[in-house]
Amino acid sequence: MLCTCKHCNKSFPSRTYTSTCENCKALDREIYEKIKDYLDKYPNSNAIRVAEGLGIKASLILKYVEDGDFVLKKGTFESL
Ligand SMILES: [Zn+2]
Repeated sequence: MLCTCKHCNKSFPSRTYTSTCENCKALDREIYEKIKDYLDKYPNSNAIRVAEGLGIKASLILKYVEDGDFVLKKGTFESL
């Protein structure tokens, strides 16, 4: 199938669904860890708050939620 990378928006072929291309794997991990750390410190933050705190786009954070890396609960979300 053809997947679209959530970081560089490039389309790439992949056997299983993935939202990160080979080139962005390290970056993906890095941002994931940052979000996780932030949520450990501020457990009930919403996506906007995390985005502002980390200086990344809220839309990118929501992609992580879509991928199932984090769970949204009543407008806030926490790590699994
Ligand atoms: Zn990419």
